[in-house]
Amino acid sequence: MKVTSEQRKVVYLLWFLIVPVAFYIAYSYFPSNDYNYLNLAISLLIMIAITRLAITVQNMLITLEKWIIFSMLFQYGLFTEMIFMQIALLTILFTSKSSTPKLFRYTFNSIHFVIISIVSGAIYYAFGGPIGQIELSELVLAGFIYASAYSLINSALFYISYKLLKTDTSVMKKVTLWDYIVSILLLPFAIVFCLLLQQFGNGAFLLIGIPFLLVLVVTRSYMESNQLNDILASAAEIGHQLADRLGVEDVLRTFVEKIKGVIPYESAYIVDLRMGENLLMLTFMEGEFRSEEVNRFSFPLKKTENDGLDLDATKVFLNKKSISSLIGYKFAHSVESVMTAPIKRNQKTEGFLILTSNQKYAFEDGQAKMVDLLTGYFATAVEKAGYYERTVEKSMRCGLTRLHNFRYLETQLDEEMIRYHTSEISTLSVIMLDIDHFKAINDTYGHQSGNDLLCAFADLLRGYQAEGVTLARYGGEEFVMALPNYSKAEAVELAGMIRKDVEESSFHIIPDLSEDREPTIVQMTVSIGVASIPDDAMGGKDLLRNADRALYIGGKQAGRNRVGVYEEESEVNIIS
Ligand code: GH3
Ligand code: MG
Ligand code: MG
Repeated sequence: MKVTSEQRKVVYLLWFLIVPVAFYIAYSYFPSNDYNYLNLAISLLIMIAITRLAITVQNMLITLEKWIIFSMLFQYGLFTEMIFMQIALLTILFTSKSSTPKLFRYTFNSIHFVIISIVSGAIYYAFGGPIGQIELSELVLAGFIYASAYSLINSALFYISYKLLKTDTSVMKKVTLWDYIVSILLLPFAIVFCLLLQQFGNGAFLLIGIPFLLVLVVTRSYMESNQLNDILASAAEIGHQLADRLGVEDVLRTFVEKIKGVIPYESAYIVDLRMGENLLMLTFMEGEFRSEEVNRFSFPLKKTENDGLDLDATKVFLNKKSISSLIGYKFAHSVESVMTAPIKRNQKTEGFLILTSNQKYAFEDGQAKMVDLLTGYFATAVEKAGYYERTVEKSMRCGLTRLHNFRYLETQLDEEMIRYHTSEISTLSVIMLDIDHFKAINDTYGHQSGNDLLCAFADLLRGYQAEGVTLARYGGEEFVMALPNYSKAEAVELAGMIRKDVEESSFHIIPDLSEDREPTIVQMTVSIGVASIPDDAMGGKDLLRNADRALYIGGKQAGRNRVGVYEEESEVNIIS
């Protein structure tokens, strides 16, 4: 609930105007019964105990102390009922967490329930509800009307104040229904309690007060274990989904998105600790997934020992003051709650998940437990996905030159063709290169030196690899460059430059065949074929075939150390 300071002042003023007067009216004008102080004291204790054992049903906090409060009216009159009600409110105030300041919550609810007490109490008296000397027949009808009025006025007042404070009233229907059901279900307890008190005195507590408390304790622990089961079930489900993801980015995305489904947060940050003690931000989320963009959050570059970020346990920081114990971490001003969870693998903390919320007390212990489980699944899934990505990457590269291999070239050409057909690129050229007389080089200097030359040649080609260009080792001493958005003329120009560069380069090798292994300089030349889409082909395979043909006819057959260009009519044009 968001309240302005003006609204707060109005509520404080109203409290002074309404509450004392209401108590005075209740004391002076509504008959009461003689007090049995021991009975009052035990009733109060049991009421406080029940209030503290609040249960959560469908995200609503429900307390079941109403029957004691009702019975106070039936036994002692309105004044006592009002005092009990106010004490119950104070108890709830310290039981439930809320981002609204306590003083405001108390004064607001105090006025609210004083009005309910007075009006519904007056209705009870008006319908001849008995005070003290209970006749069952009189009590049942007046009690039923009273309990109904109590609940309905409660809902009506809440509705009005929510409207006045412009708070969302969409949950009102559910709350109203639950409040009514609870009120009516608890009424018989109040009636029976009064009758038992008349019959057995304070022995009635043994017959109904204590058993009620015990049943409540059992119910609560049952509900808690159920909640834990739910947490475990959804954590396991998320764990499975994480395990299914193959890419690291995919795992990250799934992780932050799935957590959002169970823990409402505004932003999620994943801090990587694996680079020594250096902190590295991987991803962050605000409404939608954005990677590598850190907004409204600054963090130190190194983790220090006493910065408040716990390496072992998931921690929740539920207000600004406790957040400030995270030394060096600066959150956006609106952040009111933070959860930090270590991401551990093999007992070692490799990073942190940091969740933030703009609500105070946004995170609960149960959620922290769930995050604990999930970060474990996450760490394993990231590792697995990383391993998978590395394996895929490896399988796409040549082990000798580290250039991409033919398989990669093929898939890349398919993708370029899609980009060509969707007009993302307007041309696609390839140049195919084959080292001249490489067999002779092998025979002269040895296979190992041949390998060294292939690596040196690959390095030379890398120097010509612009952004977006695929460079692959096509076969033994054959290489291909796929050049998106290069016109045929541009590709021919590039091929010419490479040809000239190779011709003019001296390659240093240590021959592995000769005895002395003196460093030797080797000269070599390369023949090149060029073909382009759309001029020479309409598909990736055709494009390669025609570049190969240009290489063979225009390069090799024409005397080597040449660039052959594919031409439709004559098939190949030779450029020396
Ligand atoms: P051309 O000018 O006609 O291309 O003559 P070439 O000798 O280069 O062509 P050919 O296709 O007859 O021989 C290619 C040679 O490349 C054969 C093989 O020994 C060598 N070769 C292929 N792969 C490797 C490799 O990985 N390492 C080494 N050292 N040599 C290789
Ligand atoms: Mg060859
Ligand atoms: Mg060759």
